[in-house]
Amino acid sequence: MKTIIVRYGEIGLKGKNRQLFEKRLVENIRTHLEPYGQNHVKKCWGRLEVETNYDLDTIIDILRTIPGIANFSPCLHTSLSLEGLEDAAQKIVAPQLEQHSASPVTFRVTAKRANKHFPIFSTEIEAQLGATLLKTFPQLKVQLQHPMLEVGVEVREKDGIVYTEKISGMGGLPVNSRERVISLISGGIDSPVASWMMMKRGCSVIYLYFHSFPFIGEQTKEKVFDLVKLLRIYQPTSRLYVAPFAEIQKAIKTQAPEKLRTILYRRFMNLIANRIAQIEHAQAIITGDSLAQVASQTLNNLICITENAAYPVLRPLIGMDKQEIMALSRSIGTYSTSIQDFPDCCTVFQPRKPATRSFLPEVQKIENSIENLEQLIENAVENCEIYHYSCHENQAIVKQ
Ligand code: ATP
Ligand code: MG
Repeated sequence: MKTIIVRYGEIGLKGKNRQLFEKRLVENIRTHLEPYGQNHVKKCWGRLEVETNYDLDTIIDILRTIPGIANFSPCLHTSLSLEGLEDAAQKIVAPQLEQHSASPVTFRVTAKRANKHFPIFSTEIEAQLGATLLKTFPQLKVQLQHPMLEVGVEVREKDGIVYTEKISGMGGLPVNSRERVISLISGGIDSPVASWMMMKRGCSVIYLYFHSFPFIGEQTKEKVFDLVKLLRIYQPTSRLYVAPFAEIQKAIKTQAPEKLRTILYRRFMNLIANRIAQIEHAQAIITGDSLAQVASQTLNNLICITENAAYPVLRPLIGMDKQEIMALSRSIGTYSTSIQDFPDCCTVFQPRKPATRSFLPEVQKIENSIENLEQLIENAVENCEIYHYSCHENQAIVKQ
């Protein structure tokens, strides 16, 4: 078995909630690793320890995608003795040196003695191990500030561990440690990033996509499926609601002034999201809006769009510029899918001159005058297709 020490950042700060967060993180790691060999995940000294018999690189790649993990270190276990620690340090440093072409390779040893009964102080452990490593590997040179290689040593109750790597995780909080949210996902760059940011804050994200068939082709829907499949790796399970939107857009086209169409589309999205949030016991609606990026995203319009939402509408990207959002989109893996050029429902019957400053009472009046408004909303909710994903499988289970 190989061992990985997993450290969590913020969860450590959460006082009473800490146990819940730790429990969630343990559960999430277990679920994410389930198909990959035998794994044991347990709490240990204010961190987690993952033992695995599976290919280490695969496990490392998965741990990188689990919200709540600050960083982690594959490590070697040793007996509780100086010889044991020395032996492990040599074993773990040898393969690392093969990766460094530079000479000398600077290093330091950093020791922690959690077990105060261990007779050797941490400074002494550092000095002894440093000397042993220098003797075994002549290309090493001690450097305390910014060394190329840091050998971490921890002396614990029953054993010692030694590691050299600290691999960055996603940070944030474990999914399901916070509320459930409904994320409005289109095929664009922004909404997948907004969804990811909410998962990173510990929310369990349920996706809602408005599909305007036959005005919008199946390619856009396929693109949204692809995006959800890419994002599925960040939470144990995902659900995608696909709501039919064409009837609503037709009603808006025939009964509302052209310049207000986009605002009304977005308000109808809220009315449907309200219902789905209720069904799913979610607490908020998430969108990928970023201030002033397009006409519908002036502050005035955003206020106007949000007004009929029964739940808070959160916009994690509101203050970010497009370059920042694109960089995040690349790093989470959705960018190349997002930029495929298929139309979104907001482009259906797109106004030639969309309002950048809409007058709320006017919008409310028009919305309320739409014929069979309640029926339109109910039909959309009832005819949603629901797709279920696990973090492991690309294939969804479909429910009507
Ligand atoms: P994105 O890149 O997320 O599509 P955008 O910059 O293109 O965003 P808009 O098209 O104005 O901006 O949409 C703003 C937000 O409205 C989106 O981020 C998304 O949350 C929501 N939205 C727009 N179209 C849809 C849709 N068809 N289904 C679900 N949500 C949508
Ligand atoms: Mg869009």
